Amino acid sequence: MSRRIRARVRVEGIVQGVGFRPFAYGLATGLGLTGLVGNDVDGVFAEVEGEQEAVGKFLVALRTDAPPLASVERISAAALPLAGDMDFLIVPSPPGGERRTLISADTATCDDCLAELKDTADRRFGYPFINCVNCGPRFTIIKDVPYDRPFTTMAAFEMCALCAAEYQDPADRRFHAQPTCCPACGPRLSLALAAGEPLAGAARVLAGGGVLAVKGLGGYHLAVDATSAVAASALRSRKHREDKPFAVMVSSVEEARLLGEVDEAAELLLTSRRRPIVLLPRRPGAGVAPAVAPGNSHLGVMLPYTPLHHLLLAEVGRPMVLTSGNRSDEPIAYTDDDALERLSGIADDFLSHDRAIHIRTDDSVLRSFRGKPALIRRSRGYAPEPLAVPVTFDQPVLACGAELKNTFCLGKDNRAFLSHHIGDLENVATLIAFTEGIEHFKRLFSIEPQVLAHDLHPEYLSTKYALDLAERFPELRVIGVQHHHAHIASCLADNGLDATAEVIGVAFDGTGYGTDGTIWGGEFLAGGLAAMERAGHLAPVPMPGGAAAIRHPWRMAAAYLDAAFPDGPPPLDVARRNAGSWTVVTAMARRGVNSPLTSSAGRLFDAVAAILGVRDSVNYEGQAAIELEQLAASGDHGAYPAQTSVGLVRAVADDLGAGTSRDVIAARFHRALADLITATCDSIRQRTQLGTVALSGGVFQNQLLLALTVAGLEADGFTVLTHSRVPCNDGGISLGQAVVAAVAGAWPG
Ligand code: ZN
Ligand code: ZN
Ligand code: FE
Repeated sequence: MSRRIRARVRVEGIVQGVGFRPFAYGLATGLGLTGLVGNDVDGVFAEVEGEQEAVGKFLVALRTDAPPLASVERISAAALPLAGDMDFLIVPSPPGGERRTLISADTATCDDCLAELKDTADRRFGYPFINCVNCGPRFTIIKDVPYDRPFTTMAAFEMCALCAAEYQDPADRRFHAQPTCCPACGPRLSLALAAGEPLAGAARVLAGGGVLAVKGLGGYHLAVDATSAVAASALRSRKHREDKPFAVMVSSVEEARLLGEVDEAAELLLTSRRRPIVLLPRRPGAGVAPAVAPGNSHLGVMLPYTPLHHLLLAEVGRPMVLTSGNRSDEPIAYTDDDALERLSGIADDFLSHDRAIHIRTDDSVLRSFRGKPALIRRSRGYAPEPLAVPVTFDQPVLACGAELKNTFCLGKDNRAFLSHHIGDLENVATLIAFTEGIEHFKRLFSIEPQVLAHDLHPEYLSTKYALDLAERFPELRVIGVQHHHAHIASCLADNGLDATAEVIGVAFDGTGYGTDGTIWGGEFLAGGLAAMERAGHLAPVPMPGGAAAIRHPWRMAAAYLDAAFPDGPPPLDVARRNAGSWTVVTAMARRGVNSPLTSSAGRLFDAVAAILGVRDSVNYEGQAAIELEQLAASGDHGAYPAQTSVGLVRAVADDLGAGTSRDVIAARFHRALADLITATCDSIRQRTQLGTVALSGGVFQNQLLLALTVAGLEADGFTVLTHSRVPCNDGGISLGQAVVAAVAGAWPG
C-alpha cells in the first residue's frame, strides 16, 4: 500500500535558462504530484508531494529526461512534513545568498525556432531575435545571477501580452525563456547609414562588394561576400590584417562540403548547438576569394548560429566572410558606440540592434583530430561551462594565464571555470577585458579566490596583475607555475588524469619563461601535476635581436646556421636575400649581443621555414611554421637521422644544397623532428620508467607534426595524451596553472 510523502529536492548543474522548471512542472503534474519548483542561486529547488512511488519516478526522470541544454550534476532529496497543497506551482526566485549555479553558454537557433522564422503565418516570421528556452543568447547577455530576465540585457524590453502569456504558460516552449520576445516587444534591427529595410540594405552592401559590420552574439563581426576578391582584399587592407585567415559562414553542411572536406566529426562540430568555426581541409577550387585565407590549406567554416545570420545569409545567397570586428590586435568590439568609433574606417555600414551584449566573446575554433574534436580557441558556445577536473580545489583558485591567447580560470570544488578567449594581453583594452572578465566570473559563480596562480614571466601583464593583487591582499597564497609545466598540466587535466599520474611531457611552443631565466619552448618534462623536472630540451640557440628574431624568422636561420656550421654555412638563398644584415646578425648571435638563448621549437620551425624560402618575416604568430607545414609534400619521404635540433638544421641545409625539392625537405624535417621527439622520450623512459607521453604547446597545432609524433610514440609502445577539451596553445595555460595550484594546495604547509 502506497503512502503520501513530501520531499525537498535540489538539482545542481546547468539547470537555469534551459527550461528546467517547466520540465519539472510537466513531470510533476503528469505524475499527479503537488508542490513547487523554482530557481535560486544554487540551481533548481523543488518540493513535491504525492504517492511515494510517483515521487520516486519524479526523482529518476529529473535526470533521465532532462531538457536538451541541461546538464544535471547532482540531485539531492530530503523528507519534509506533508503540506497538503492543491497544485504544483512555479515560484519566483528568492533574492540574495551565495551563488553557485551554473550558466549555460550561448546556443544556436533551434529547429523549432527556425521553422517559425520561415513560417509566414507565424507572428515571429522573419524576426531576427527569435529564441526559446532551447536556444538563443545566454552567457553574453547575463549581468548577474540568478538567471532571470531582470538580470539580463533583455530587462530593457517589456514583454507584450502575447509573449507574456507564452512566458507564463508551462506548456509553452517559451515558458520562462528569459530572452523571449517578438517583433511587437523585442529588439529591433537597424542599419546605421543606408535608408530603408535593414536586411535588404545590408545585403546590398555585401552584394556591392562592401564591408558590413554585423552585431552578433558576442560582439561585432565584419562581413564581406566571400566570393569577391575585391571585397576580401578591401577588408584585409582596412583591417590591417595581411595574411591571417578569415572564417567563412555558409548556410548548410552541403555548402560547407563545397569548400572543405567534412568528415563525420567535423559535421557534428559544424552542426552542434555550440556552432564553432571548424577548420576544414580546403577543397581544391573552393569557391572563395584567394584573400580569404591566403596560401592556407585549411578554411575556417561555420554555420549560422543566430536568426539574424540565417536571414542575412538567405538574403545574400552566398558564403560570407565573418571575422571579428576589430583592427588587427585589439579585442572584438561589442558595444554599439565602440563599434561605430573603432570600425568606422573599416565598415561601409552597420547592421545592428538594440539588445546589448554584456560580455564579449569571440567565435570558438576547432578541428577534428583522429575523429575527435580538438579545441583551438574555446570561447562562444563553450564558455562559461565549467570543465570537470580530476583534482579538488580545496581553496578557490584564480589562475591568470599567460600573455598570448590569454584566458583565465577560476577553480572551485571539482570544477574549472575556464574563461572565454580574452586575447593577447598586450594592450590596455585587452587588459581591461581581462580584469573585468575576472570580476564578472567571480560574481557569477560566487568564487572568492584564496589562491593565485601565475606564469613565471615577470613582464606578462597577467603575472603583474597577480603579483599586484598579492601585494594588496597578503592573505592570498600565490603560486608561480612554470609555463611548460602548466602546458603539460593542462593536457593532464584535459585527459582527466589526477595528481597520481606521472608522465613525460613534451611541451613545444614559441616562448615560455624558464626557471633558469632563458626562454624555453622545446621542453621534455618528467613528473606530474605537483612537480616536474626538466628532463631534456632542444639545444639553446641565440635569438639575434630578441623579439626581432620572432618577427623575422631569417634571423633564426642565421643563428641556427651559424651553430650548425661552425666553419661557415654553405651558400644559401636565405643569406643572399638578407645579405644587407646577415653578417651583422650572425655576429650578434655568435657574440651573444642582444641575443637571448632559446630552446624554442617555434623558433626552430621559423629557422627551417626561412632556410626553405617559405618566408623571412611574419605577419602573425606562428605564420612561418603554419606555412612550412603546408609546404610539406604528402607521403613518406624519409627523414634525417639527426639527434639534435641543430643537427636537423644542418641536414636541411645540406639537403637543400643537394638540390632536393623544398616540399620534400619540409616533409623530411617534420618526420625527423617527430623521430627526435620519440627518441628523446625513449631515453627518458629508460631512466624514469614512465610510459605515458603528454603532448602540449602551440607547436602541436601542426597536424602533420602531431600525427607523426603520435604515430612514432605509439609505435614505440607509449600511451600518448593529446588535447581535446582545451587548446594546446596558451589558451589552455590557465587551466594548467589552476590544477597545479590545486595540487600544491593539498600539501600541508
Ligand atoms: Zn528555439
Ligand atoms: Zn512580444
Ligand atoms: Fe606556450
